[in-house]
Amino acid sequence: KPDLMDKIVSLCKRRGFVFQSSEIYGGLRSAYDYGPMGAELKRNLMSEWWRFMVHSREDVVGIDASIIMRPEVWQSSGHLANFSDPLVDCKVCGERFRADKAPRKAEGEDAPITLDKSRAKAAQDKLTEAGVKLHREGATLTGAKAGAAGYVCPNCGSPFMSDERRFNLMFRTSLGPVDPIGDVVDIVRKAMAEGADDKALRARVEGALAASSVYLRPETAQAMFVQFMNVQQSLSLKVPFGIAQMGKSFRNEVTAEHFIFRSCEFEQMECEFFVPPGEGPKYLEYWMGERMKWWKSIGIKEDSLRFRKHDDDELAHYSDGCYDVEYKFPWGWDELEGIASRTDFDLKAHSAGSGKKLTYFDPEAVDPATGKPGRHYVPHVVEPAAGATRGVLAALCDAYDEEPADAEGKGARTVLRLHPRLSPIKVGVLPLVKKDGMPEVARKVVDAFFTAGVNAKYDEQHAIGRRYARHDEVGTPYCLTVDTQTLQDDTVTIRYRDDRRQERIKIADAVDTVRKALTE
Ligand code: ATP
Repeated sequence: KPDLMDKIVSLCKRRGFVFQSSEIYGGLRSAYDYGPMGAELKRNLMSEWWRFMVHSREDVVGIDASIIMRPEVWQSSGHLANFSDPLVDCKVCGERFRADKAPRKAEGEDAPITLDKSRAKAAQDKLTEAGVKLHREGATLTGAKAGAAGYVCPNCGSPFMSDERRFNLMFRTSLGPVDPIGDVVDIVRKAMAEGADDKALRARVEGALAASSVYLRPETAQAMFVQFMNVQQSLSLKVPFGIAQMGKSFRNEVTAEHFIFRSCEFEQMECEFFVPPGEGPKYLEYWMGERMKWWKSIGIKEDSLRFRKHDDDELAHYSDGCYDVEYKFPWGWDELEGIASRTDFDLKAHSAGSGKKLTYFDPEAVDPATGKPGRHYVPHVVEPAAGATRGVLAALCDAYDEEPADAEGKGARTVLRLHPRLSPIKVGVLPLVKKDGMPEVARKVVDAFFTAGVNAKYDEQHAIGRRYARHDEVGTPYCLTVDTQTLQDDTVTIRYRDDRRQERIKIADAVDTVRKALTE
């Protein structure tokens, strides 16, 4: 029996929400394409965020920065040095996985290990080759201590691992007409002629690559720090204020998992909110409230949302508090958004890195050092950082519902109970038959919705029941049906997705009826 995630993935493909990237070539791991319905859903979710975070507030402004930034940005932010995952390779099957996410065995355990039968012989051969001595009887291997780190391979179950290595998650590319391979060949040739050892050789190659490298941003946040002065000055903004941005980010994730939950290319919605020193904890609490309000406002069920406080050992060294908003996904509670109090770490780091002052002058505040009015300071930051594509998955999981056939003769169906503001199509306009002037009337109704800025879709394919079913599956909250009576009295049937109720309304009232529901 397929589980809920399988059903959602299958609905996504069947109805044009999400496809595997490059599918006809075998698919690209961890990258996804949003189809006609998914593109609308993602746009709607992101514009709801923008409306709430930027348009509805006087103290937050939005920017749209470039994805490629100078490498110094990532040097100063700490991403070049620290934004990495610890990885180990399984010596038996070659699987590479994240050490911090792997199931562990008890340290030092050397009990017999039973592998998948087909793998045991191969494992013995490989390990013998690698200099590990062990005895095999059938599928059971004995005589070798479990890998020093005590990990168990999530693929084949073997405990024989390489040492841990750290891999940076940023995608590196080069800007300008450089030929990194040609450069590297030259460097290697020269270094070898000079008798450089492996370590020296590595350092030189790394240096040459770094010199021509730029990185795709792994988060949208840094541009808000780097452009802090430009944004603050161009609009004469007064602290507290925030800079918001949404868009693509890239992380070379080793364990892409759970469909679009974790992918290498994804979208984020982040806000850096600048506050006076000492007020981080207060605003952290404030933003927790606001952000939870927003997730509920887009229809996510209250029972499926919660906060998780970060333990002290999880906190970055500069942070004085962090909470995740978690959603109850089909596989368990997992992160949707992080809300962190980041002190003055970011602006100070970029100020040190760039040599430019990133401070704020408040003429009304009292300088604590002199006791006089007028205070220069480095603002502290509270950051609500949400995943947009992860939000799309949460919205899909939350909205997915199956109804069995009932006694009144209503058939079984799958329905996406999306909040109408997220629904890809707000209104399906369906002529009962493709003749007698019904298509013409229906198209006029669609035009009226278009003029009103509401996405309505004309739909005449297949029998009416199948059309309703299709709209239920993509979450269309209303369908309007044009029939014979319409031609006589200018009324249509409105059908409600959630309870399949139908009633007649005047065509003239249709736009207002739907618009009212969308603003509720
Ligand atoms: P995780 O612990 O899941 O890797 P994170 O704590 O590293 O996430 P942040 O750096 O805080 O994530 O990013 C903010 C938000 O961006 C996350 O809450 C998540 O919604 C989203 N996000 C981060 N990485 C990915 C990814 N690889 N795919 C999809 N969304 C992501």
